Amino acid sequence: MDALPIEEATGAAYASQVPGKMHACGHDGHTAMLLGAAKYLTETRNFDGTVVLLFQPAEEGGAGGLKMVEDGAMDRWNVQEVYGLHNYPGLPVGEFAIRPGPLMASADQFEIVVTGKGGHAAEPHQAIDTTLASAQIVVSLQSVVARNVQPIQPAVLSVTALQTESDTFNVIPQTAHIRGTVRCFDPVTRDLVEARLRAVVEHTATAYGASAAIDYQRGYPPTINNPEATQHAINAASVVGVKVNPETAPVMPAEDFSYMLEARPGAYIFLGNGDTPMCHHPAYDFTDDAAPFGVSYFVELIEQRMPRQEG
Ligand SMILES: [Zn+2]
Ligand SMILES: [Zn+2]
Repeated sequence: MDALPIEEATGAAYASQVPGKMHACGHDGHTAMLLGAAKYLTETRNFDGTVVLLFQPAEEGGAGGLKMVEDGAMDRWNVQEVYGLHNYPGLPVGEFAIRPGPLMASADQFEIVVTGKGGHAAEPHQAIDTTLASAQIVVSLQSVVARNVQPIQPAVLSVTALQTESDTFNVIPQTAHIRGTVRCFDPVTRDLVEARLRAVVEHTATAYGASAAIDYQRGYPPTINNPEATQHAINAASVVGVKVNPETAPVMPAEDFSYMLEARPGAYIFLGNGDTPMCHHPAYDFTDDAAPFGVSYFVELIEQRMPRQEG
């Protein structure tokens, strides 16, 4: 499940045996925890109804959460609530952190092709300067978060690449490529940023006589916890955890469990991995001592939400 293209540097006896690939996000640990819950639940059956265990694949960019929803994982078994868990380095082992509402950001990316009119750099009046138009686009895009987004809403618009097809001194290039990413916590803000990005890019290009083609790719939506389900998660975590932070700060990475939260009410919770390197670091190591807390969390949550009817 979900190896990353990183050379493992843990030196652990159980380190990856595949060069350049490692479980650097702890999804092997997540898998073990859900299997542990499955073992306990099938042996004890101290609940009523049907529990569906979703081993969500391809979190690292492949949107496995979306594929599972599209394949009918929610409808096929009449799933009514959905809960997910991710380990969190830096949070002490046994501690949980969660919040109602947005927990993780959306992640979109854009690629813009600016087309002017190539020509001799000494005859700019015969050309349309793609470089100038592109530079103005980069600058103007910074007005979107600063001037259009409501100040109390977090949003990031980063331009990460600006390349013209010219790499010499005396050529005005015909085209230029601009790339970047957009991160938001709120769907309305996300729509606004995309709309403003399109308007600013198109009109700025036009103002300089150039044109712009925009390829805006929506990635994972923001991970938004349902308030009631969050309380259910807190109730379960409070029983099995050392401590629960019910109002943790949102974080900017994105998570495709968000697609499941769009399909059903539910909640995503962080479980402490202790003082380890961050996820996606070559020395990251899932803390085995955290596993019993994850197993117990799922079991407790299920037994609380689906109590066995006596008689
Ligand atoms: Zn992960
Ligand atoms: Zn990851």
